[in-house]
Amino acid sequence: MHPIALSILLGLTAAAANVLGGAVVARRHWEQRYLKYFMALGAGFMLATSLVEMVPASLQLRGFSAGFLVLLGYLLIHFFEHTVTPHFHFGEETHRAEFVQAHKGMSVLLGLIIHTFFDGIAITSGFLVSNWLGWIIFIAVFLHKIPEGFTVASVMLASGRSRGWAWSASVLLGAATLAGVLTMVLFKHAVSAGLPLSAGVTIYVAASDLIPEVNKEPGVKMALLVFVGVAFLFLLDSIFHVH
Ligand SMILES: [Zn+2]
Ligand SMILES: [Zn+2]
Repeated sequence: MHPIALSILLGLTAAAANVLGGAVVARRHWEQRYLKYFMALGAGFMLATSLVEMVPASLQLRGFSAGFLVLLGYLLIHFFEHTVTPHFHFGEETHRAEFVQAHKGMSVLLGLIIHTFFDGIAITSGFLVSNWLGWIIFIAVFLHKIPEGFTVASVMLASGRSRGWAWSASVLLGAATLAGVLTMVLFKHAVSAGLPLSAGVTIYVAASDLIPEVNKEPGVKMALLVFVGVAFLFLLDSIFHVH
């Protein structure tokens, strides 16, 4: 399949996973344990993908200045998810007191819209470089999409909005992902900026959003799953990646 068509198809799949995560909250039939598993596996897989695949490919595309864009991508998410946003963490939002003012929920939504836009940028950038890079970035994005939709929907509920609103917020994240995919399709020549920026975003989501959630869990099982996520990337590499 053509890399652009594939990017759009997989962008739609990732967007659907956002909506599924939102529906899980809106319907209240959910098993939080499974979401945590996704977060731990996703953290390991995303961390390995960004550091071992996306950063080296970025350096190859634009030389040492790629390092600056990786940092910029990282700080961009730190700014919108955790600086202008009074209270944010991945996973279920239960601290209703933090959201007595409903607009605080809106700033979380904005932060996540910017983050998910770069999820989309990452997928297309990957396919513009190689099929291998595109696929593993897609898996990295997919693994945290359900918890992401779940997170935004639970923030909406905690800030006093309806279940319909909660679900719509997850639809918005899906749409932002797709917008990122299509933006990169339109500006293909900017892949040497898109890839390092989205590598920085991916590092942030893995190491600063997901790992802290994994570390909140008692016991070692969840922490060990991070290594399973890392091993999964190297397993795929040994089977599918032609060096
Ligand atoms: Zn909270
Ligand atoms: Zn994401």
